[in-house]
Amino acid sequence: MNGKTFFIDQTRCTACRGCQAACKQWKNNGYTETSNTGSYQNPPDLNAQTFKLVRFNEVEVDGVLKWLFFPEQCRHCLVPSCKMAADAQLPGAILQDEATGAVLYTEKTAKVDYRMVREACPYDIPRLDAATGRIYKCNMCIDRVQQGMQPACVQTCPTDTMHFGDRDTMMRLALQRLQEVQQRTPTALLADSEAVRVLYLCEQPPQYYHGYMVADSGRVFKHNGPLVAGVSRRKVLGL
Ligand code: SF4
Ligand code: SF4
Repeated sequence: MNGKTFFIDQTRCTACRGCQAACKQWKNNGYTETSNTGSYQNPPDLNAQTFKLVRFNEVEVDGVLKWLFFPEQCRHCLVPSCKMAADAQLPGAILQDEATGAVLYTEKTAKVDYRMVREACPYDIPRLDAATGRIYKCNMCIDRVQQGMQPACVQTCPTDTMHFGDRDTMMRLALQRLQEVQQRTPTALLADSEAVRVLYLCEQPPQYYHGYMVADSGRVFKHNGPLVAGVSRRKVLGL
C-alpha cells in the first residue's frame, strides 16, 4: 500500500470556495478579520485558522485574460522537510502516518522553532497560532480518512476538481486527465507529482497559479537524503 493521495484538477475549479468553507467547518476553525484589497481572494493568505485557501490569479495567456484558481493546502510530501526540521529539535512534534502518509502536527509544535519549520517547507505552508504557539496546517482530515470517509474539502467539491484515494489510483486518474488536457495544451503538467501527495494539474505554467505551486528548492531543509522536491522544481523550470 502506497498511502493516500489527492488529485486536484485545476481545469475544473470555479473558485466557489466550498472546499475552503468545508475545511473550516470540519476543523471548527474561526474566521479572520480582513479588508477589501481588490481581490475576491479572502483571506489573503493561509493562517492558523485557514488550512485551505483558494487563491485567485488573473493572467494573460496568448493575449487573453484568464482567471486561474489554486486551492492551496499542505502537499503531504513523501519526504517532508518540515518534519526533518522539527525532528532536529524535538522528535515527535511532527509525525507521518504510516498507513496514509499524512504529515501530522502535534501540540509539541509549540516547543519547536516556527521559523525553522516554515522555512523548511518548500511550499511555504506552516502557520503559527500566536495565541498558543502551536503550528498548524492541513492534516489530510486524518480522523475522517481513518473512518473510511473522504476529506471534507473533497467531499464538498461540486465540480469534480477534488479527488482523494489510494495513491496508485490517484496517479492513474491524474495521468489520464493530464493526457486529455495535453490534447489542447501540450505544456500542461502535474506539479511535483513524484514528491507529494497532492497532485495539482496545471494547464498553465505553475508560476501563473502561485510562486510556491512547485517546490522552492532553496527552502528544502538540508539533510542527507535526496532533495526530491527540489529536483522536481528544477525539472519543471527546465534548469
Ligand atoms: S484535507 Fe481536511 S484539513 Fe486538509 S484542506 Fe481538506 S478539509 Fe482541510
Ligand atoms: S508541504 Fe510543507 S508543511 Fe506540508 S508536508 Fe510538505 S514540507 Fe511539510
